[in-house]
Amino acid sequence: MTGPTGERIAVVGAGVGGLTAAYVLSRAHRVTLWEAQPRLGGHAHTHELDGASGPLRVDTGFIVHNDRTYPLLRRLFGELGIRAHPTEMSMSVRDERSGLEYAGGRGLSGFLARPRQLARGDYRRMLLAVRRFHRLARDFLTTTDDSEPTSFGEFCAAARFGPDFIRLYAVPVVACVWSTGSAEALDYPARHVFRFLDHHVMLELGNSPQWFTVAGGSHRYVEAVASRVAEVRVGRLRDRLPRRRAAHPQEALMSRTLHRTVTTTTPADRVFAYLADFRNAVEWDSGTVSCTRLSGEGGPGSVYRNVSRFAGREVSLDYTVLTRSAPVLVFEGRNATVLGRDTITITEHGEGARVDYLAEFTFSGVARWLGPLVQPLLERLGDQTAAQLTRALDAL
Ligand SMILES: Cc1cc2nc3c(=O)[nH]c(=O)nc-3n(C[C@H](O)[C@H](O)[C@H](O)COP(=O)(O)OP(=O)(O)OC[C@H]3O[C@@H](n4cnc5c(N)ncnc54)[C@H](O)[C@@H]3O)c2cc1C
Repeated sequence: MTGPTGERIAVVGAGVGGLTAAYVLSRAHRVTLWEAQPRLGGHAHTHELDGASGPLRVDTGFIVHNDRTYPLLRRLFGELGIRAHPTEMSMSVRDERSGLEYAGGRGLSGFLARPRQLARGDYRRMLLAVRRFHRLARDFLTTTDDSEPTSFGEFCAAARFGPDFIRLYAVPVVACVWSTGSAEALDYPARHVFRFLDHHVMLELGNSPQWFTVAGGSHRYVEAVASRVAEVRVGRLRDRLPRRRAAHPQEALMSRTLHRTVTTTTPADRVFAYLADFRNAVEWDSGTVSCTRLSGEGGPGSVYRNVSRFAGREVSLDYTVLTRSAPVLVFEGRNATVLGRDTITITEHGEGARVDYLAEFTFSGVARWLGPLVQPLLERLGDQTAAQLTRALDAL
């Protein structure tokens, strides 16, 4: 399988990271995927068990994903034709010491599963403290940066969360999401914990995303990717690769991504229709100077020419519509040195909509060496675009 440029590239490790890299690179290059274990998948591991009515496939490790914070994985599954079943993410706690029980992630019925518990002061105090915990954790994220060393236990102590709350709520949450023992839960860096919880919409009550699990087990997507890669070698631990075949060090410099989320009061269907017409980018994208349709009616295959101003220069990219199927829009743009891909996911948010905007850029030629320099400029552009996009959508 030799693509347009046909370089030989080795990808080491066949977890979801290596599999995705191998899948994307295989579009243009001959990829060899090396995996130390005798099976592919890394943490994506499906076990086949004997069930009463035939084989039963059970995932351990990677089990669930959602429709909001996994835009790239969902796109990968879409491209591979992998089906996913809706499922739920919830947490049940039974505390032997106090005898209290509840289920999180199931709304009021979970917290009120044993209504008599409401008469207990320790249970009521825990319920009230959950909101304060969410608020303080979100504040902590906005007022600290990644160098912040405070551990989760230190955070709980400083915020005066008592031992009951820590035992009944704080430790179980962390133990559940990371399949970790309760002893280690308090040692994690607080920022790390909160960023994970925030990313999975677990620092607020309600507003949970829809969770999914891969139909037939996660090995379905592992096999689908492996079948698209030129060469797969398992049971080989690769610490060093032959020099000529080594992955190019500049690969790491070439790609940059930008992710922003905005919400609007305008309903999701109107937002989708507006963003699907890429000519409107001139209103909502702070970099775009002009955007004209060169061909098509706006559906997949249509081409737009987008001229934007970046780092004091005008840059022209021709964008092709790859996906226009609610709730996802994908535009891919290119010129001689830049390949850009915008994935926009529009989901309902209360009466309005939430827009997740993911921009990926791959620089080639001389431009690839500018990769690290452009990130701060991209970040600023991302912030300006998020603000302009919100204004444009609210005005619809
Ligand atoms: C218990 C558990 C449950 C989880 N549940 C979920 C979930 O439900 N949803 C979710 O989104 N995430 C979940 N995660 C996280 C998710 O599984 C990981 O984020 C993801 O699998 C990481 O993928 P990866 O490709 O980076 O690494 P891995 O999946 O760890 O893959 C790395 C691969 O590289 C191989 N390798 C390493 N070194 C070499 C070498 N030198 N030569 C050759 N091969 C090598 C390893 O053998 C391995 O196969 C869970 C994680 C755990 C541990």
